[in-house]
Amino acid sequence: MPPKGFMARGQQLATLAALAHELLTGDAYGAMLHELAGRGDLSETQARNIVLSLKDYGKAKRLSAPFVADLARQSSHCYDRWIAARRANDFKIFEESLQRMVALKQEQASLYGYDAHPYDGLLDEYESGATVAFLDGVFARVREELPPLIAQIGQAKPIDDRCFYQMFPRERQFAFSLELLGWIGYDFDAGRQDYSEHPFTTSFGMSDVRVTTRVDEHNLSAVIWSSIHEGGHALYEQGLPEDQEGLPVGSAASLSIHESQSRLWENNIGRSLAFWQCFYPRLQAAFPEQLGAVSVDDFYRAMNRVTPSLIRTEADELTYHLHVLIRYELEKQLLDGSLSVEALPEAWNDLYEKYLGIRPPDARQGILQDVHWCHGSFGYFPTYSLGSFYASQFYEHALKAFSGLEEDIRHGHFERFLHWLRDKIHRRGRRYDSDTLCHLVTGKGLDISVFLHYAKEKYRALYEL
Ligand code: ZN
Repeated sequence: MPPKGFMARGQQLATLAALAHELLTGDAYGAMLHELAGRGDLSETQARNIVLSLKDYGKAKRLSAPFVADLARQSSHCYDRWIAARRANDFKIFEESLQRMVALKQEQASLYGYDAHPYDGLLDEYESGATVAFLDGVFARVREELPPLIAQIGQAKPIDDRCFYQMFPRERQFAFSLELLGWIGYDFDAGRQDYSEHPFTTSFGMSDVRVTTRVDEHNLSAVIWSSIHEGGHALYEQGLPEDQEGLPVGSAASLSIHESQSRLWENNIGRSLAFWQCFYPRLQAAFPEQLGAVSVDDFYRAMNRVTPSLIRTEADELTYHLHVLIRYELEKQLLDGSLSVEALPEAWNDLYEKYLGIRPPDARQGILQDVHWCHGSFGYFPTYSLGSFYASQFYEHALKAFSGLEEDIRHGHFERFLHWLRDKIHRRGRRYDSDTLCHLVTGKGLDISVFLHYAKEKYRALYEL
């Protein structure tokens, strides 16, 4: 969209949001749902669809059409100011618009209602059932256990990852990423891959699930792990229950479960030695002059280098969760009013110094790096970490559930594993919330110890700690 288009687009989105809201909160629709809920002849799946529809209906009812339109309009405005602020590298340009957005989100939280913390009112949108009390418990473990491990790594002999930072021609990178997607089972008859600055997955239905990837000619890692990551999201969307398409049960369970699918492929599999023992020769064949002399063991070490950095989306598997922790702490304070938007950049920088030992030199590499707050997505960030923690728990369980999984990976055979994911997670759609699904798959609720154990084992071995 051209830069001047944002005002008109904002008006259009506001109109559509208000119209959709009217339909979703209409009395006729509500009466129909209530009548269906009272019937005794529904199948379990039909009943679940009604329960979910009623829940969505009830939530939508709490917001007025003008409020929804306001929010949509403010999102467009905020996005425009964010782009301008990024360009000028000046948070002040964004400040006032973000203030209005925070006020709207506080209002939304009270319209939805909450018991303990305004953040709880908003979390449900992304992660049904999650609360501040639950997240505080999870992030307390992150805060206690990751920094000492990262500090230990900081004292160890650094890993040399220069093999990634050479000139890799754009077209060859893109071609390799298409191969990668094919290997993990992405269905190109039901999707396609394109370029974008910020990789994403978008679904127009399970038979058309598109992904984008990011290519940096001077850093090979961008394309590899963004393609695998988005591929993981896409495999989930392509595997949702076909007979429920368009109905609540036919959608994803939650954002954290969605993220568990991308992270599982990206990290647990895509950053494992077994995976690259199979595919590294293909990568070397694509880039003989750059990687011909680099061994698979060195390549494996390089891809797992841990080092504190400023940009969340470029962070390694361990420091990533400190980036999320920082955003979680700030969001809570913004919503309960204990932190003002004016004081936000300083608070951001202080937390980076506290948890990662580095201070952003400017707004672009600090407070202005994420788009989420422009869209009013407060409560979204924690789902990224939850996704990684679920991923480790699912993967550990899969390793136990069927023998030879690592052998499969070493040989590039993912059919059995994908079938397991489809059976246990994808085909269940939104039938269960994250916690119930996790119980069904692994026999217990989210247990961050599994991720921490995986992280300590993997990185102590890598860094010979
Ligand atoms: Zn993702």
